[in-house]
Amino acid sequence: MAQREKRLTKRERKALTPGNHQHQAQHIHCISCGRHLDPEEFEGIPPNAIVITCQHGSRFPACAACEVDARARVAEHDRTGQPPRTAGAWH
Ligand SMILES: [Zn+2]
Ligand SMILES: [Zn+2]
Ligand SMILES: [Zn+2]
Repeated sequence: MAQREKRLTKRERKALTPGNHQHQAQHIHCISCGRHLDPEEFEGIPPNAIVITCQHGSRFPACAACEVDARARVAEHDRTGQPPRTAGAWH
């Protein structure tokens, strides 16, 4: 299972395009729709983006608007042990 989590991380890394972002260290995308999320979006009131923690403690970012779908993906991941189906990253 640890290896599957690793594969997801590698995929996340591949989506990372260096150069164009000032916030490379926190380059994150919604798992549900693939939209780019800025760190500030997690801090808004109400937040524009949320982090969903799965039962193994992995953290998955999502738009607040995508919460229902994102939670369903994480719940499926918890049920099946497979990496969550994540949308392709876009900007
Ligand atoms: Zn989204
Ligand atoms: Zn991005
Ligand atoms: Zn997990």
